[in-house]
Amino acid sequence: MSDFTASPQPQADPLIARMREFGTTVFAEMTALAVRTGSINLGQGFPDTDGPAAMLEAAVAAIRSGANQYPPGHGVPVLREAVAEHREKHYGLVYDPDHEVYVTVGATEAISATLLALVERGDEVVLFEPYYDSYAAVITLAGAVRRAVPLRLTDGRFTFDPDELRAAIGPRTRAIIVNSPHNPTGTIFNRDELSLIADLCLRHDLIAVTDEVYEHLTFDGVEHIPLATLPGMRDRTVMISSAGKTFSVTGWKTGWICAPAPLVAAVRTVKQFLTFTMGAPWQLAAAYGLRHELAWVTTLRDSLAAKRDRLITGLTQAGFEVVRPSGTYFVQTDIRPLGFTDGLDLARTLPSLAGVVAIPTQVFYDNPAYGKHYVRFAFCKKDEVIDEAVRRLAGLEKRTDTRP
Ligand SMILES: *Cc1c(COP(=O)(O)O)cnc(C)c1O
Repeated sequence: MSDFTASPQPQADPLIARMREFGTTVFAEMTALAVRTGSINLGQGFPDTDGPAAMLEAAVAAIRSGANQYPPGHGVPVLREAVAEHREKHYGLVYDPDHEVYVTVGATEAISATLLALVERGDEVVLFEPYYDSYAAVITLAGAVRRAVPLRLTDGRFTFDPDELRAAIGPRTRAIIVNSPHNPTGTIFNRDELSLIADLCLRHDLIAVTDEVYEHLTFDGVEHIPLATLPGMRDRTVMISSAGKTFSVTGWKTGWICAPAPLVAAVRTVKQFLTFTMGAPWQLAAAYGLRHELAWVTTLRDSLAAKRDRLITGLTQAGFEVVRPSGTYFVQTDIRPLGFTDGLDLARTLPSLAGVVAIPTQVFYDNPAYGKHYVRFAFCKKDEVIDEAVRRLAGLEKRTDTRP
């Protein structure tokens, strides 16, 4: 070693301190485990079949016809118009396609840009746990503080305690994130729950950020009600959705925001420096999908409901206690009847025990204790994949050495 050791050593972790808790996600760990063990991956929520053929062709046609340069920052006009038409037709909500609709790189960027644009350092953001993982990371990136309200299993579905929600709102609360249909519990908030949320937004002057990417993937006739349709809410809601889940094209990352013009203008100020704009061919194809493929989406919904039932039957036979979801791609299972108590522990051993990968629900909580005994399985897979997973899980034997 030389004597010249005074030069500063690189820091052990160059990542900014506040982001260190978000280092590696359980999805990466579980996917690697699935590959290493040759397991069936019911962890990650993406379909293993393609979206509507004509919509895929529309993307190819868009590339062939030269839609290959920067589109306008707020999105190609035809997609903004198709989104506005869709909102009006399905929900009776009228948005001006030029100033109140904004195209983003998936719902993920819509969420990030919205929170970065509207939430000040030190502000508080209320959200329901378990939550989609990007919410917590972006709140932290914005320098804001999250206040999580737990969804608890009550009469067969996950919902919140109104008093716990009221208690989470304080003088620094700026926004609330509402994800319905909800990943990972499959709950669809009903009108009473939404009215309570709306009432609190109005009373405390909060902005609602709604993640509605599963808006069409609802089962058993349960209706998805956008929060923006409740009295007074359109003016304070940033409504977010995307093509990925609706049309089984999660790799397209084509999303959109609908909100009053001043909120959209604020989001645009941030978004223009994140990505400026979103890939043109996907936008044109998503517009085609919204205008011509909603019948296909109805078929997808019915097929997903059948897959849900197929997986529920198998998981129940294998000994799990299953919570029946009203929407999304996912079922929650209570692992205690099988003699397990820690979902993370089970998720890590399930590939070697049964050759199946699932996601421990506790990773979606600030307080992991609430979700400790739940594991999430995805059913947006081919029937034969679900059947094989079920066959493997049937071999799971009830554990006798229950761990603490
Ligand atoms: C899949 C998913 C997203 C991400 O949507 P993209 O359009 O792929 O960015 C956002 N929120 C929830 C709840 C999701 O499940």
